[in-house]
Amino acid sequence: MKILVINSGSSSLKYQVIAYETREVLCVGLCERIGIDEPLMSHKTNNGKEYKAVRDFKTHKDAVFAMVEMMTSKEYGIIDDLNEIKAIGHRVLHGGEEFTAPAQVTDEVKQAIRRCFAWGPLHNPANLTGIEVCEEIMPGIPQVTIFDTAFHQTMPAKAFLYALPYKYYEDLGIRRYGFHGTSHMYVSQEAIKLLGKEPEGTKIVTCHLGNGSSFAAVKDGKCVDTTMGLTPLAGIPMGTRCGDIDPAIVPYIMKAENLDPDQIDHIMNKESGMLGISGVSSDFRDLAATAKEGNERSQLALDIFTYQGKKIIASYIAALGGVDALVFTAGVGENDVNTRAEMLKGLEFMGIEIDHDKNANLRGKVGDISKEGSKVRVFIIPTNEELSIALQTVELLGLAD
Ligand code: ADP
Repeated sequence: MKILVINSGSSSLKYQVIAYETREVLCVGLCERIGIDEPLMSHKTNNGKEYKAVRDFKTHKDAVFAMVEMMTSKEYGIIDDLNEIKAIGHRVLHGGEEFTAPAQVTDEVKQAIRRCFAWGPLHNPANLTGIEVCEEIMPGIPQVTIFDTAFHQTMPAKAFLYALPYKYYEDLGIRRYGFHGTSHMYVSQEAIKLLGKEPEGTKIVTCHLGNGSSFAAVKDGKCVDTTMGLTPLAGIPMGTRCGDIDPAIVPYIMKAENLDPDQIDHIMNKESGMLGISGVSSDFRDLAATAKEGNERSQLALDIFTYQGKKIIASYIAALGGVDALVFTAGVGENDVNTRAEMLKGLEFMGIEIDHDKNANLRGKVGDISKEGSKVRVFIIPTNEELSIALQTVELLGLAD
């Protein structure tokens, strides 16, 4: 059974076709710069066929047509007929409090996604466009939405409410929603399998460390806390995002530099974090290389990241009342040996001990880097949001039965 997974962004459309039974990725593609100059399409199949060309995408509809053409083409195709696609799973950024689980696309669901536009002004409209264009071009194929926020909807109010006047929660929906939910769900479920336990009774801290980074505390398989907030700007400092700061800094800088809300938003989202501190790069590989050459601010950026991460891990262990396993995932978590080691240094008193040889030799694949006898297991689990979306789509529609 073949499932199409789509991530429709404001100027891009990413897709994968996944074979459910084997979990194999049959093709993966990207249409970028939709509606901008020189739109580009790339498409790769599991038998090594690769296509890359400048295309004339004016709209998402053009991109979806191109995707269908590519998937069914003689040379680059992976299906003969669109009917072979049994369902489409769409990634949607923000489900607000409306969505606690995946949902099959209906008019009501689309309306609810529209109500969440305020929370994901850049992503949600683009996500909905992707859904509507697929409905138009591929009518009859069931479509499912998977929300980045849904996994975190199990957080209790004490974890999700900000200490602002309560009316802002009631009237404006200001609260912590959390993101990367599909990733935290996927890796925590995989970790529970590696522990050989049922979800009930398990305590796991998941560390999704990439360009964007977030942590989640997962109890009994359910999220009880996470670091991102109303938006993905909160939590640990990231590639270019500042993460948690004293909120009074915002009006202070706005007044001092005479900035409007969009300008300060841009500074906090695009010019801060690892890039802002180092002045060198947002990329952890660049930071490691320049720190090694003696760049003190690159080293400082890395130190801030590992120090803040350590504090978050320890605080989540306190929130959970213990921990069975930590999971590292995403670009940095899966590959950056030094960041992992630094972040966990000093947590031995909590039962977290890693084997440095195992850590140094494990990159980008599933494994356990904890020392023999460590009370807490430390797993590396590559995230696979597309596979998770495909599996959740099949489950919701009952297609596997
Ligand atoms: P995104 O949040 O955009 O999905 P990724 O999960 O792809 O990001 O992570 C990108 C980050 O992972 C970059 O900062 C990159 O430097 C880092 N990264 C990727 N591979 C390595 C590696 N081998 N060593 C250190 N960092 C790495």
